[in-house]
Amino acid sequence: MSNPSNLSELASQLRLPAEPVRTPMYIDGKDYSRAGSEFVTRKSPGHGVPVTVTSRASVDDLNVAVAAARRAFDDGRWSRLSGEQRATVLLKTAVLIRDNVEVLAYLETLESGKPIGQSRGEVNAAAGIWEYAAGLARVAHGDSHDTLGADMFGLVVRQPVGVVGIVTPWNFPFFILSERLPFVLAAGCTAVIKPSELTSTTTLKLAALLTEAGLPDGVVNVVTGFGSVVGQALAEHMDVDMISFTGSTPVGRSVLVAAGGNMKKVGLELGGKNPQIVFADADLDDAADAIAFGICFNAGQCCVSGSRLVVHRSVEQELVERVKAVIEKVRVGDPLDATNHVGAIVEARQFDKILGFIEAGKRDGAQLVCGGTATSEGERFFIQPTVFRNVDAHSELAQEEIFGPVLSVTSFDTAEQAMQIANSVPYGLAASIWTRDLQGAIRSVRDVQAGRIWVNCTITGGPELPIGGVKQSGIGRETGRYGIEEYTELKSVHIQLGNRPRWIA
Ligand code: NAD
Repeated sequence: MSNPSNLSELASQLRLPAEPVRTPMYIDGKDYSRAGSEFVTRKSPGHGVPVTVTSRASVDDLNVAVAAARRAFDDGRWSRLSGEQRATVLLKTAVLIRDNVEVLAYLETLESGKPIGQSRGEVNAAAGIWEYAAGLARVAHGDSHDTLGADMFGLVVRQPVGVVGIVTPWNFPFFILSERLPFVLAAGCTAVIKPSELTSTTTLKLAALLTEAGLPDGVVNVVTGFGSVVGQALAEHMDVDMISFTGSTPVGRSVLVAAGGNMKKVGLELGGKNPQIVFADADLDDAADAIAFGICFNAGQCCVSGSRLVVHRSVEQELVERVKAVIEKVRVGDPLDATNHVGAIVEARQFDKILGFIEAGKRDGAQLVCGGTATSEGERFFIQPTVFRNVDAHSELAQEEIFGPVLSVTSFDTAEQAMQIANSVPYGLAASIWTRDLQGAIRSVRDVQAGRIWVNCTITGGPELPIGGVKQSGIGRETGRYGIEEYTELKSVHIQLGNRPRWIA
């Protein structure tokens, strides 16, 4: 395993490792490996060379992790601590994350292909979520009911749900985990995490930092490997009380079924096909910059990407020209070069899938405005941001989550039509509305089917507001005060004051 000082040096110089960084699994407060276990070698999608090696867990390994989390929950070593004690650990974790920003961001970029500046921003923002959740550990509380008559008093107690399985995707490995784990811990739960097999290393590093911050052994455990094996087994596991899954809608559906065995609580954060709805009176310069950002950010591999531009016909041409002008200034390339805005596509399969959609757009008669070109030379996967005009709202391009830098443009004539188009997909994750008309904006906010809405902005916000989707974009909410409530169960208590009225006198 690369020693930490070597890793810091590589990170500070932004050099590729001579040998892949090896990180074992993390179970019961320590590194975990098993003789004869297999490994996953990850090649950087921005450089085409092996950069990390992690373990390929078996179901037996998963069972060891779940048993550790179960013991840690049941003996109260974490759940019975005070909110203040839990907050202290979460705050210390935030400090350690900030102390390790460079190494974490470097590893994130190597595995995911995202630009280094973006990785640094995400790791720093993640530290802020840990700080926010620390506050919630101290303010979470139940209710009392003093309205039940002279002889009755009621309490509603919030208790941690128990052992939570957390399955995360590859697009924001550290950030998405930080939108869930600190809330899970603030609630008093224990966890078994299964990160994406493509991007597991920063999750493993975080687990070690948690121990350093004073988290008791066994409270957070990480198993790595393939979702079809360990992810599936985690969702099915009879000793897991809740599964929090973030990923694609089809896999989310299978997680929902797998969770049925012991009726575990389920949280799902799934796909999106998010509209940017632009009315004729919008500030087109503001909108153009945000629309370009919304489709280029993380190379469009973002659940809340604004991948559909739904624009009033009268300003369509002008807006598309302005979006194109912004996109032409976007630099795509080496994610370790801090001057690039857009990095690599995560892997060959995703690259081919995106190119398939670009071909479908051309075949279906949409007009290519810019982009459409790509390279996979040397197993480095880059796609130029691509815009299609005159896209039929019912076509593949406008209906399916592409998860790449591909924007489809559809026009509307009336506000009703705009809402119909916006709501015509099976997803309901996010939407952006662009207008100077306050009343119109509020009407659209009411009518658009999405869990998260931005008015005259896009892809912004901190942990204060909740995130999550409607329709096939998910179940439940993360962050905000709802983020901790998600990981609790309510218990109602009726307390008789004096003698209970007799049934038989
Ligand atoms: P994915 O569904 O392929 O994989 C997500 C995770 O699930 C990975 O860790 C994977 O190993 C695991 N997995 C695979 N099969 C499994 C199974 N049968 N049981 C349990 N776990 C299994 O998704 P992805 O390609 O990693 O990520 C992209 C998708 O995630 C997109 O659809 C995107 O919209 C979605 N996403 C949603 C949000 C959100 O907050 N709504 C955030 C990020 C990504």
